[in-house]
Amino acid sequence: MARRMRTLRDLDVTERRVLVRVDYNVPLENGQVADDTRIRATVETIRWLLDRRARIILCTHLGRPKGQVREELRLAPVAAALSTVLGQSVRYVRDIVGPEAQEMARRLQPGEVGLLENLRFDPREEQNDPEFAAALASLAECYVNDAFGAAHRAHASVVGVAKLLPSAAGFLMEREVAALERVLHSTERPFVLVLGGAKVSDKIGVIENLLPRADALLLGGGMANTFLRAQGFEVGRSLVEEDKVEEARRLFALAAKHGVRVELPVDVVVAPSLSAVDARQIIRVAEMPADQAIYDIGPETVRHFAAVIATAQLLVWNGPMGVYEVPEFREGTRGVAEAVAACPGFTLVGGGDSVAALKELGLADRVDHLSTGGGATLEYLEGRELPGVAVLMEGGE
Ligand code: ADP
Ligand code: MG
Repeated sequence: MARRMRTLRDLDVTERRVLVRVDYNVPLENGQVADDTRIRATVETIRWLLDRRARIILCTHLGRPKGQVREELRLAPVAAALSTVLGQSVRYVRDIVGPEAQEMARRLQPGEVGLLENLRFDPREEQNDPEFAAALASLAECYVNDAFGAAHRAHASVVGVAKLLPSAAGFLMEREVAALERVLHSTERPFVLVLGGAKVSDKIGVIENLLPRADALLLGGGMANTFLRAQGFEVGRSLVEEDKVEEARRLFALAAKHGVRVELPVDVVVAPSLSAVDARQIIRVAEMPADQAIYDIGPETVRHFAAVIATAQLLVWNGPMGVYEVPEFREGTRGVAEAVAACPGFTLVGGGDSVAALKELGLADRVDHLSTGGGATLEYLEGRELPGVAVLMEGGE
C-alpha cells in the first residue's frame, strides 16, 4: 500500500496565504469559458479554504503557449467564470511572479481569492526552474495541489513549489488518488479490464501493469484491430498498427500465462469511409471486406462484453469502443457504457475521450469514479509514480 498523502486536513490555513494549483485548462470560445466543469470541480477545495478565512492565490496553465505570452490564452475569461461560480470577485493579475503578483498576494485579505496569469507564459514553469518555484513559493505560506491532470508533469507549480512550502492535496486530488489506488491494490474479484481507443501503443503499459491481476480483458475500438491481426484476421482499411502485431501476440501470451480471459470483437460495424455512414453494415469479423474499415463493435460483441461486465466486482474502462464522435458509430460505446453503469462492482472510467464519451451519453454520474486526469490517469494505471503525487506524500518524496 502506498504511503499516506498529506491532505487539506493536515494544513493550518487559517487566515494564511495559500497557493492553490488548479487545472483550469478549460475550452475558450469567443473569449469566454465554453465549459466550466473544471472550475466547478475545484469549488469544494476553495470553499473549505474560504471557510477557514484563508487568502487564496490560484494558479493554472491554459493551453500550450510554450513559454511566451499569448494574448488569447490570458486568464481574464477564467477569472470571470470563476467569479460567477463562486459568487464573489476574483483578483486577477496579468502577472505570475512579478511585482503585480506580489502586490496582489500582499494585499489579499482573509476570505479573498486571487488568480495569477497563465503559468506557461513563463518558460521556467515547464523547466521546473528552482528560482521560478521559489518566486511562486514566496507569494504564500502554504501550498495545495488540486490539479490531478497535471500531476504527471514535473513542473515548477506542481513539484518545485511543493517542496518549498507546507503542502497538501486538495479534495479533487485526494479523490483521484484514492480511486486509482483502490484499482491498483484492491483484491476485489472478478477484475474486468475494458480497453478501446485508437492505438495499442498508448495502452501497452496499462495492459502490462493490470493484466497480472485481471480476470478478463475486453478489447474494442481501433486498438482491437491490431489484436485481430495477431489472430490472423484481415481488417481491410481499418486503423491498425502492423508494427505492434508482434506486441499483441506477446500480450495474448501474457494473458494466457495469468489465466486472463481475453474477448475480442466477434462482429463489427464497417463502412467504406468515416463519412460514408449510410453505407455502414454489421458483419462478422471473419467476413471483413478488403475495401472497408471497422468503426465500431457490433451488437453481438456488446452482448458478450456486457455479460462479462455484469460479473465484475472491480472494473476499469479506458478507450471508446468505436469512433464515438460520429453518432452512427457510437452504439458500441453506448452499449458498453450502459453495462458499466449497471455494473454492481466498483467502476473507474478514465481517459480524455472515454470521459467525453460518457458525458455525451449522459452516463457520467453512473460510474463510481470518473478519472479526469487524461495522461495522468493512464500513467497512474501503468503503475508509475506521478511526480506531483509523490511530492505530497508524508515524509517527502
Ligand atoms: P482515451 O482518450 O479515452 O484514452 P483514446 O484517445 O485512446 O481514448 O481513443 C479515442 C479515439 O479512438 C477516438 O477519437 C475514437 O474516434 C478513436 N477510435 C475508436 N475506435 C476506432 C476505430 N475503430 N477506428 C478509428 N478510430 C477509432
Ligand atoms: Mg484520447
